[in-house]
Amino acid sequence: MFSASEVLTTSTRTLIERAWGRPPHDVYAATEASGIAAECGEHRGMHVFDDLVVLEVVDEDNRPVPPGRYGAKVLVSVLFSRTMPLIRYEMSDSVQLAADADCACGRPYTLLGGIQGRVQEALRFPTSDGATREVQPVTFHHVMDTVTAAGWQIVQRAAGLEVLLARPVDVDTSVLAASLSAVLEAQGVVAPTVTVRAVETIPHTALGKAPLIVRGT
Ligand SMILES: [Zn+2]
Repeated sequence: MFSASEVLTTSTRTLIERAWGRPPHDVYAATEASGIAAECGEHRGMHVFDDLVVLEVVDEDNRPVPPGRYGAKVLVSVLFSRTMPLIRYEMSDSVQLAADADCACGRPYTLLGGIQGRVQEALRFPTSDGATREVQPVTFHHVMDTVTAAGWQIVQRAAGLEVLLARPVDVDTSVLAASLSAVLEAQGVVAPTVTVRAVETIPHTALGKAPLIVRGT
């Protein structure tokens, strides 16, 4: 079993393991760079494919971020693509290098400690002291993973958060709204008004994607 494209949360990992009897291997990949990193059998982080890509974890000003801390983005150089070489290609993924790089499997490759998601999917909220703070997608995933529905999407609007649920099953919308408010408050931001709406399908973009988290207008 392997998982790619979305952040693999602990609850999804547990569900997969229960269903198929083995832990999933999380894979970090991108359309432009192909595979970038994957978990080994130890499942304690993802080994970067150092012989195929050069991965740099950097802050907003392209300065290297030390292991154990999340960067604002990554720069990827691809070593195998001669048709379309990519050199320090910027992707808005917030990842961190593992603070302890030694893995029991013995592979010498760089170890990633975690992925928080795409910065494009991070939402900014006001704090009580008038500043703003970014909330990473994984915060929402932890709550939305508990919902039974054909799909979901969170849209940030001026009036608050709108949560779309495609064909939900036994979902208490007020409990869901309260849970989302609680995780946002735990992040130190002022929780917005949360409204939950059942829909037939989640709207797709022109590219055919149904993003989970959207900054609306
Ligand atoms: Zn390993």
